[in-house]
Amino acid sequence: MIVKENFDIKNCTTYKIGGKCKKVYFPQTQSEFVELLKNLNNYIVLGSCSNILFSSKGYSGDIILTTELKQFEIRGTKIYTSCGVKGPLLAQKTAEASLSGFEFMIGFPGSIGGNIYMNAGAHGQCISDNLYQCCLFDRETKEIVYKPKDEMNFGYRNSILKEGRYILLHAEFDLKKAAKEDIENLIKRNLEFRKNVQPTLATPNAGSVFKNPENDSAGRLLDKAGVKSFDFEKVKVWNNHANFIINKGNATSEDVLELMKKMKDEVKKQYTIELVPEILFIGDKTEKEENLWNMLCQKHQK
Ligand SMILES: Cc1cc2nc3c(=O)[nH]c(=O)nc-3n(C[C@H](O)[C@H](O)[C@H](O)COP(=O)(O)OP(=O)(O)OC[C@H]3O[C@@H](n4cnc5c(N)ncnc54)[C@H](O)[C@@H]3O)c2cc1C
Repeated sequence: MIVKENFDIKNCTTYKIGGKCKKVYFPQTQSEFVELLKNLNNYIVLGSCSNILFSSKGYSGDIILTTELKQFEIRGTKIYTSCGVKGPLLAQKTAEASLSGFEFMIGFPGSIGGNIYMNAGAHGQCISDNLYQCCLFDRETKEIVYKPKDEMNFGYRNSILKEGRYILLHAEFDLKKAAKEDIENLIKRNLEFRKNVQPTLATPNAGSVFKNPENDSAGRLLDKAGVKSFDFEKVKVWNNHANFIINKGNATSEDVLELMKKMKDEVKKQYTIELVPEILFIGDKTEKEENLWNMLCQKHQK
């Protein structure tokens, strides 16, 4: 197994922001992964690092990156996939097999583990739609357990994984047979749509910064509040969509948090709506960052 010490995780993240981590493990098989989960105490499991802001201070515990857990199999309409497999690859492979249900994953880099943790979705589809069951590591009993979809507590950008007890090892899906041409057309449409409303990874970002409030869109509110004009030395709000923050070069986690706070404050001032972050803040934090993050997560600050 590849193990890196004192490893700067920055370039593994889509924000290109991060710091030195004491030890980063890259398991290649499920048994290596499970051994680590059984033996390490203070660890964080990450996939494609596309929904996180990693602290520029780094992390003094262990990180397990699932990017080398790439095994998957298509059998009939069933898909068996390790947690590290990337969504766009599965979208392509299932399209080739005339299976519909993963077209939405074509345009963003999330791994299956991250996608299930977040219950990721787009274009009217989400990862839980066609899920059959999950194979999980239980951090309390240190055993492997299976949970069917209806025990995964899925909600908007939410799943049981967010409660912290379970780690996804692999997942089983049951997709629908459909005409290959229709699937490929839907994939094309999804990619075309994204060209205008989402930045590519060439401009470092981590997708939507804030969750949509009930019956509204965070992007719409942020746009109306005028935050597209927020353009600072190292970070800015993306010109085409106000719910994206771009790292202009050497931004730190503090730069992003400060901009998030300004965006949230502006929407609160104009609409009395409190946006809450969709991205997750990971790693060791400075006191200032801890305070900023707590304020960002608060729903009813005075
Ligand atoms: C350009 C761009 C566009 C995007 N568009 C969308 C979109 O349309 N829809 C959408 O929903 N999201 C979107 N995202 C956000 C992001 O890709 C998704 O949230 C994705 O699900 C995150 O997956 P990840 O593997 O990168 O997770 P990471 O960022 O690595 O981790 C996210 C969380 O998942 C946990 N996690 C990861 N793997 C496991 C595991 N095996 N077991 C338990 N917990 C785990 C981590 O601990 C962390 O808390 C976009 C991001 C970018 C950069």
